[in-house]
Amino acid sequence: MKSLVLLGDGMADFPVPELGGRTPLDYARTPAMDAAVAQGVSGLFCPIPDGLPAGSDIGNLSVFGYDPRQTFTGRAPLEAANQGIVPNDDELVFRCNLVTLEDGKMRDFTADHITSEESRALMGALSEAIGTADIRFVPGVSYRNLCLVRAEAAALEPLRRLRCTPPHDIIGQNYTSSLPAGDRQETVRALIEASRPVLAAHPANRARAAAGKLPATSIWLWGQGGAPRMTTYKERFGVTGAVVSAVDLVNGIGRCAGFEVLRVPGITGYLDTNYEGKVAAALEALERHDFVYLHVEAPDETAHEGRPDLKVQAIEDFDRRVVAPCLEAARARGDLRVLIAPDHVTSLASRTHAPGPVPFALCGPGVRPNGLRAFHEAEAARAGVLYPDGYTLVPAMIRTQEIAFPLVR
Ligand SMILES: [Zn+2]
Repeated sequence: MKSLVLLGDGMADFPVPELGGRTPLDYARTPAMDAAVAQGVSGLFCPIPDGLPAGSDIGNLSVFGYDPRQTFTGRAPLEAANQGIVPNDDELVFRCNLVTLEDGKMRDFTADHITSEESRALMGALSEAIGTADIRFVPGVSYRNLCLVRAEAAALEPLRRLRCTPPHDIIGQNYTSSLPAGDRQETVRALIEASRPVLAAHPANRARAAAGKLPATSIWLWGQGGAPRMTTYKERFGVTGAVVSAVDLVNGIGRCAGFEVLRVPGITGYLDTNYEGKVAAALEALERHDFVYLHVEAPDETAHEGRPDLKVQAIEDFDRRVVAPCLEAARARGDLRVLIAPDHVTSLASRTHAPGPVPFALCGPGVRPNGLRAFHEAEAARAGVLYPDGYTLVPAMIRTQEIAFPLVR
């Protein structure tokens, strides 16, 4: 038996006035997902455990089948894993955005989508000027860089517990109240402060200004943690897997799970992504792996934009160009289970993530239908069963021969 997860990031939502009081999943035309519901089991599950932040890190960890309470150490370590970087026991890894601060405000958390080449030059300058044996700057893709901080145990714990704010949460706002806060905050605040003159003097920034682009005026440190506490799928289930996603974070979770990370040209994390390429790569990977995780980012991005029309389009594209061909391949193979799920709610109204239950559908060999008809929040709620521990779904999918509702007792 093989397993395929089709993850529509942030697909779930609340009823939206612009869609006649229906959710985007309810409003959108989704014949393939509806067929998966009709052929399999559907219901609600909670990818975000109570009290944890509703992010793609926690949500995707859950859908990968890992208990976030046991495994999650921070967002940065998962992204670092995608670059093959694992912090040592005496280290923390921080996400190190290059950002544009202006007039006391977070003008741009991407430094105007700075290029990877410019970013590499700037991170190199930071290494020379303020890097030490204990402070290491590692360039990544565009504004998404890393900073590794080594400290003795007495300092490491307070740094681990610092309250750091994602810069995309304070766009256009005064940033001073969102600087890292807590015991030993001065260590991290001093690094941010020290980056500013180094960046201001750099030729790459002067060239950007001359070209009418925003300069990277500062680093912004957040998402810190030690090595993720994850065992691989091989160790847990005795199977191997592959992941395909445009997002470093999701690929990083895959790497921690011991997966092959599939490289597909033209994947963007948006509506213009190469859906067909992702599906082809995923189906081909099922020839050599037992488990494949295919992640699509567009529903989340369009919800952050607050665009009901685009979120509906993202869901309909996901249905027609991802779910439909995968279900067809599953029918042809006869040995493939397919799970369709979001990783959290992304609310069009608030333009941000929310915790709470989201719908799933699971179909394939040995799965007994539970009588629902459509893939959306209200229909899934009719099943009347909630899985508060969302991370139990995938282990059930992999391990259980005969699946009837409820999947987990
Ligand atoms: Zn997400």
